[in-house]
Amino acid sequence: MSKVYNFCAGPAMLPEEVMAQAQREFIDFDGLGVSVMELSHRGKEYMAVAAEAEKDLRELMQVPDNYKVLFMHGGGRGQFAAVPQNLLGGANKKADYLLSGVWSKAALTEGVKFGDMQGVDGVIKLDNGGFKLVDKPQFRSDAAYVHFCPNETIEGIEMFDLPDTGSIPLVADMSSTILSRPVDVSRYGIIYAGAQKNIGPSGLAVVLVREDLLGQARSDTPAIFDYKVTADNDSMFNTPPTYSWYLAGLVFKWLKRQGGLEAIEAKNIEKAQFLYDYIDASDFYSNHVDLACRSRMNVPFQLKDAALDADFLTQSKAANLMALKGHRIVGGMRASLYNAMPLEGVKALVAFMERFAKQHS
Ligand code: PMP
Repeated sequence: MSKVYNFCAGPAMLPEEVMAQAQREFIDFDGLGVSVMELSHRGKEYMAVAAEAEKDLRELMQVPDNYKVLFMHGGGRGQFAAVPQNLLGGANKKADYLLSGVWSKAALTEGVKFGDMQGVDGVIKLDNGGFKLVDKPQFRSDAAYVHFCPNETIEGIEMFDLPDTGSIPLVADMSSTILSRPVDVSRYGIIYAGAQKNIGPSGLAVVLVREDLLGQARSDTPAIFDYKVTADNDSMFNTPPTYSWYLAGLVFKWLKRQGGLEAIEAKNIEKAQFLYDYIDASDFYSNHVDLACRSRMNVPFQLKDAALDADFLTQSKAANLMALKGHRIVGGMRASLYNAMPLEGVKALVAFMERFAKQHS
């Protein structure tokens, strides 16, 4: 059987080397005769695993010393609630949400439960169904924070520049772009990400928070979602998702072996370009997201006749190209090309797309 390439938007493909290492260590971790999953989170063996993962993430993202790194429960959506709970405990209950697609809107929908939230349009929908960024979104000057989602997983929109918010702290949902390229952490108040794309198993959330933003939580914030409680307890206030944290650590080591974020970015550019170039040159497939904001991680594309979608999916699956169905809101197809997707996978996809287009023209 030829290799299976998994284009799922998340839970997504993980590096084969990482999975093989996890398998080798599964029953007997480090000669202890038990699995990592069975270790006490407070024992020295697991504490070392946890600390090493944090150290590697700090190194990869060059996290400044005045930021805490938290390993939390509840994935991306958990943070949709945790962010307003943690930042709106004072008198200022205002926060602005830059709306660029489904996930930033979902963050706002959760956010309105906790304060005076305002959505700010961040993209223009084009006549051909594509998207273009709004030049200068306008935020309230007295907002406590501005939330945005630099990579909209469903629409395939990625923002490479930060919105200009002056001194207002920026909060970024980086679930589907984290670790795909270097970012200057010091320009953000909070960065968070659900793990299931570029980090590890679902359910885990990684949060980077600037220390001056700690201690402003609403009094009714559940303790396990409170950043200060989490930070004060090294993310072990309660039992953390230990196995996911361990696996994230293996992914961070793998990323370091790849040469870090500059190196992985170069690979990600090459992969995305390979697919977009083919789509743009073809009159059978299309993607209408403006060139300036096309996602490197999620590439949605349409067939020229949607009646062929079902056949495309049946045949691609038979060719070991998995999970290409687009999100129901956008339709068509979507190929997610996270860090673990090798260029060979993208080449196999393009070769299949070529064959399919020939068959139907
Ligand atoms: N934000 C973004 C950008 C996402 O893509 C997703 C999930 N696909 C989420 C948030 C929600 O993550 P979770 O399912 O872990 O709650």
